Amino acid sequence: MPRAFITGITGQDGQHLAEFLHGKGYDVFGMVKGQNNPRVAGLIEEMPWVETVSGDLADLPSLVAALEFVQPDEVYNLGAISFVALSFTQPELTANITGLGVLRMLEAIRMVGGTYNNPIRFYQASSSEMFGKVRETPQTELTPFHPRSPYGAAKVFGHDITVNYRESYGLYACSGILFNHEGPRRGLEFVTRKVTNAVARIKLGLQHELVMGTLDTKRDWGYAGDYVKAMWLMLQQDQPEDFVIATGETQTVRTLVERSFAEVGIEDWERYVRRDPKFDRPAEVDLLIGDSTKARTKLGWEPEVDFDSLIKMMVANDLALESAKSARRLGG
Ligand code: GDP
Repeated sequence: MPRAFITGITGQDGQHLAEFLHGKGYDVFGMVKGQNNPRVAGLIEEMPWVETVSGDLADLPSLVAALEFVQPDEVYNLGAISFVALSFTQPELTANITGLGVLRMLEAIRMVGGTYNNPIRFYQASSSEMFGKVRETPQTELTPFHPRSPYGAAKVFGHDITVNYRESYGLYACSGILFNHEGPRRGLEFVTRKVTNAVARIKLGLQHELVMGTLDTKRDWGYAGDYVKAMWLMLQQDQPEDFVIATGETQTVRTLVERSFAEVGIEDWERYVRRDPKFDRPAEVDLLIGDSTKARTKLGWEPEVDFDSLIKMMVANDLALESAKSARRLGG
């Protein structure tokens, strides 16, 4: 059976990818950091077939030891400080994990797998945030980068160093430039899940307002479950290459809010929404829209869940989750 090693296994994409690879017959290993990491119990409960391996993207020896133990065919580097807003307040940590962490993993792969004819295939989670203040629309694999946050800058380094190790040492290393991808497993700090969860709670009478940053920015939002398939497809090609993964449609945050409220039958959504500049960022990414023609042509990939279905799925999930929580509270 092929063996996959995933960093960021407790995050949204790590979980989707683990499920997907397990379904394909892989032995799945997930790297977990820290001592008594509280997210591990939940992971093992949901996916008992994942084997957890201790390691940290800030610690090269731990990565070498993890790879020596796992002997993976494929490494998926999804671990990162992934929240743009946090990257402004903890920029050095972001550079270390999201940026230098990639370099450490590539070095560990060289050390464990040899340099040339290295059998380990590497996937780097690159991000549309690298396009930042976009130089062209829509964005493709050839669009120049102009990051607008420490997160974006760290991802550019991770991307460039992946290309560099591929070109310097012949590693089979690919970057997927994934546009925003969401779903019920998204953390509550991201705007989609923050909105769908608040809408569910407002509908159930558990919350009275939704406090937001800008409603004007535009994102190309897809479904995480669709996007992890593209990660795997990239590592099954003859030659390693980079691919943009996106839906090709963009929506404002305002539309996200409006559609989410409409999903629970609330049309006068503005009554519930308050704007607070504390959610504004020192620099913004105003517009993202990706052109994934290359992935569609070469990988045969295409998204299955559109924006409306994504919102439906997320609102339904949050309604079920929040009703169950309040039923448990009432039941004592
Ligand atoms: P990002 O594209 O990686 O930054 O993903 P996010 O989901 O964190 O943010 C998407 C967009 O929503 C950004 O332009 C944010 O500024 C905007 N936004 C507006 N209000 C909020 C909010 O309350 N929380 C978050 N996370 N984003 C918000």
